Amino acid sequence: MAVSVEGLASAVKGRVVGAEASDYDDSRALFNAMIDKRPAAIVYCVDEGDVAAAIGYGREQGLPIAIRSGGHNGAGLGSVDDGLVIDLSQMNQVTIDGELARVGGGALLKDVLETTHQHGLTLPVGIIGTTGVGGLTLGGGIGHFSRTMGLTIDNLVAATVVLADGSVVQTDAEREPDLFWALRGGGGNFGVVTEFTFRLHPASVVLAGPVLYDLDDAADVLRWYREFVPAQPDELGIWYGLVSVPPGPPFPEELHLRKTAALVVTQAGEEESAALREARSFGTPLLDGVGPVPVPVWNTAFDGVYSPGDQWYWRGDFVEEIPDDAIDVHVRFHESVPTWKSTMHLYSIDGAASRVGNDETAWGYRHAKWGQVVAGVDPDPANAGAITEWCRAYSDALKPYVLEGGYSNFAMDEPDRVRGMYGANYDRLAQIKAQYDPDNVFRVNQNIAPAA
Ligand SMILES: Cc1cc2nc3c(=O)[nH]c(=O)nc-3n(C[C@H](O)[C@H](O)[C@H](O)COP(=O)(O)OP(=O)(O)OC[C@H]3O[C@@H](n4cnc5c(N)ncnc54)[C@H](O)[C@@H]3O)c2cc1C
Repeated sequence: MAVSVEGLASAVKGRVVGAEASDYDDSRALFNAMIDKRPAAIVYCVDEGDVAAAIGYGREQGLPIAIRSGGHNGAGLGSVDDGLVIDLSQMNQVTIDGELARVGGGALLKDVLETTHQHGLTLPVGIIGTTGVGGLTLGGGIGHFSRTMGLTIDNLVAATVVLADGSVVQTDAEREPDLFWALRGGGGNFGVVTEFTFRLHPASVVLAGPVLYDLDDAADVLRWYREFVPAQPDELGIWYGLVSVPPGPPFPEELHLRKTAALVVTQAGEEESAALREARSFGTPLLDGVGPVPVPVWNTAFDGVYSPGDQWYWRGDFVEEIPDDAIDVHVRFHESVPTWKSTMHLYSIDGAASRVGNDETAWGYRHAKWGQVVAGVDPDPANAGAITEWCRAYSDALKPYVLEGGYSNFAMDEPDRVRGMYGANYDRLAQIKAQYDPDNVFRVNQNIAPAA
């Protein structure tokens, strides 16, 4: 669809890239190369005024609007065919003020962590540094520190939002409290967040790394993990993964590409706790890579394996119990994993993340103990079918053992599951949506329909 990009270009200070631009293909590329969307234009906003002008222009022209922070969304919800992409990557400033960080809506996690680290502070975020703070935060934000410091949203204290009518509001527990509630788990449904304010935690160097076990031990390790970790103090974070060893340093050559079960450990503080000592003494690992590591280094340690441009198909669920039958499913599917990057992770979300009520924020799965993701991943588009089929079959086989609904940030475009993603909070979210975005201008997301 032809769109007059000139009209938009004169309305904003940032650059506008239309389909005729020589860098259009680079500009429209998303992290997940399985998604190939062709927007009418991409506007690189530099401030709130640009965002408001872009929203106004999109509405006037009848264009669907997508909001892009890091472009990591698995379903490609940071872009839209024949519509307008509001790209926030130029708005990536991170400013530290005491124990607070003010973070631009387009900052990447690694931008945030590098800056907070200079002050001996950190924020609990996702495990890959190139993810955008925007999508990650608004969906919840699970990571290495969830047991210790809560979800990313649990550390959000304020936000600046450009609403569908172009007005700019500040929101926190006192100002526009319903909006503030909805932003913490309700995704990009309510407006464009141009700045987040987070409360930070003291943490500089942590004890972290993977402990890898032979696939024959995967079931025993998972049986141990499901009992051990929930009984430990919050300071110890461990997630369980079924992973193939990356074919490169720092892993020894004899382990390259070997299928393994992994305990991925993060302990706040440099002194090994009794809990961590006990964890590291379990079973007979192939490798124990736990050691002191600065937080930003640890939080980007997997970026090389999961670099932009791979094909991704994934499914995310919440888990309250891991029965033996579920463990059998995990092991069976990992034995037939189609590509070495394809994986399953079970992130612990008990501890601090579970001590918030289901109705205190829009994220209504505080009763879950784990956030589970199954991901088919490979650089070769020829394998797109195989990784998709594997992921779907695997996640279908796990259905009896997961909660209804699922984590919006780990979902593909799955309209039938959207209501469940917001669980018991859906109806309240729909009321707030009707107040802040009655025309559903922000609908390129796991969409909440405005209440009638
Ligand atoms: C390799 C990889 C690792 C991941 N690891 C984790 C993890 O450890 N923990 C975890 O919780 N999740 C993780 N995720 C999932 C991630 O949180 C989601 O994919 C999230 O949507 C990515 O955010 P983004 O800003 O990069 O995405 P984008 O594609 O830019 O945006 C995604 C959605 O968020 C909305 N949005 C983004 N920014 C804003 C904003 N400023 N204002 C309003 N709406 C906005 C948009 O509406 C869009 O629908 C991972 C994803 C990948 C690909």
